[in-house]
Amino acid sequence: MNFSEIKNDEQQYMMHTYGRFQTAVVSGKGATATDSEGKQYIDFTSGIGVNCLGYCDEGWVKAVSSQAATVQHISNLYYSPLQTELSKKLCELTGMDKVFLCNSGAEANECAIKIARKYSFDKYGKGRQKILTLVNSFHGRTVTTLAATGQKVFHNYFFPFTEGFDYVAANNVKDLESKLGDDVCAVFIELVQGEGGVMPLSQEFVDAAAKLCSEKDVLLMIDEVQTGVSRTGTFYCYEQYGISPDVITSAKGLGGGVPIGACICNEKLSGVMTPSSHGTTFGGNPIACAAAIEVLSRVTTAEFLEEVNKKGDYFREKLASMPNVSDIRGKGMMIGIVTEKDNAKEIAAKCVEKGLLILTAKNLLRLLPPLTITYEEIDKGLSLLSEAMAE
Ligand SMILES: *Cc1c(COP(=O)(O)O)cnc(C)c1O
Repeated sequence: MNFSEIKNDEQQYMMHTYGRFQTAVVSGKGATATDSEGKQYIDFTSGIGVNCLGYCDEGWVKAVSSQAATVQHISNLYYSPLQTELSKKLCELTGMDKVFLCNSGAEANECAIKIARKYSFDKYGKGRQKILTLVNSFHGRTVTTLAATGQKVFHNYFFPFTEGFDYVAANNVKDLESKLGDDVCAVFIELVQGEGGVMPLSQEFVDAAAKLCSEKDVLLMIDEVQTGVSRTGTFYCYEQYGISPDVITSAKGLGGGVPIGACICNEKLSGVMTPSSHGTTFGGNPIACAAAIEVLSRVTTAEFLEEVNKKGDYFREKLASMPNVSDIRGKGMMIGIVTEKDNAKEIAAKCVEKGLLILTAKNLLRLLPPLTITYEEIDKGLSLLSEAMAE
């Protein structure tokens, strides 16, 4: 099928939930994607932070295909050695205590929200159910995670939204203090706001949140869906802030390209979720677990993390001398670019024409390249970006 046939069928048969770039990606290798017309692209997106090992990494393909040929799904009514191996790894890597496996970021966040409310209910009874999130946060597209998302544009049409959320201005300690009343059970934050414009939180704000939470037995929950799995230069981003969260949620890069999410809690919360309080049909699917086990075995070594940081620095250094760049934000290989001409959307569309896939977030350009991208691919992509920026 050629592009116009694919596009026609998309318009005829699919709900119009996405504004798409004008290309249909059909295959890929490393950080290079190929579309339906045979045109190649350097990929600075990883499918929004998902393909952390790039397209069709050899070890990842082997892990997924050999698991598909062994057992593709069992129900959560039975034990699974892949689920236990993955959960054990996640606990060992984080020092956390228990894992719930699901299929997406929104689901991992739903689990975190349920844990926070049940922990508080079990210990303090009713009336302490509010969860504070941040203005400009993004936590997912279910009705409850939309309510958790601190952006008014998402609070439309689907009323009534889940109650019990309030929004604190990022990096504003006074606002946090004033909203952290006796009805609050959790503070739930991204450490680098992704969709909100690649905005890192200040150390001061995160320290204040951690201190207030621990004083009031309010859970500190970190949405690592975008920042996690070595994206920001440590396995999870919270490590860089020196805090000990009560809950971490993870998804996107965790499966390296297959749907998997995880909600990870500390020892204090290990008994909160009890039989039948939560569940999922697909969560912890063996193929997804095999993929995640392979991802973790690769992205958590000291050498790999050092490379992520080196490549992040390399990107920053090159971007700093590029036309139309007024600011560069983010951590590791999660990079936001503020443009002088405030024309990120236009640049992103131009890049696609030139053979570079690139993201936006609010009015910024956003790069989430595969963590395994080569320097050759980085140079190639940056030279296309530079051309688009100069126009
Ligand atoms: C992408 C994202 C989500 C939602 O994940 P889905 O897998 O799309 O449900 C939640 N939180 C953050 C920070 C994200 O970047």
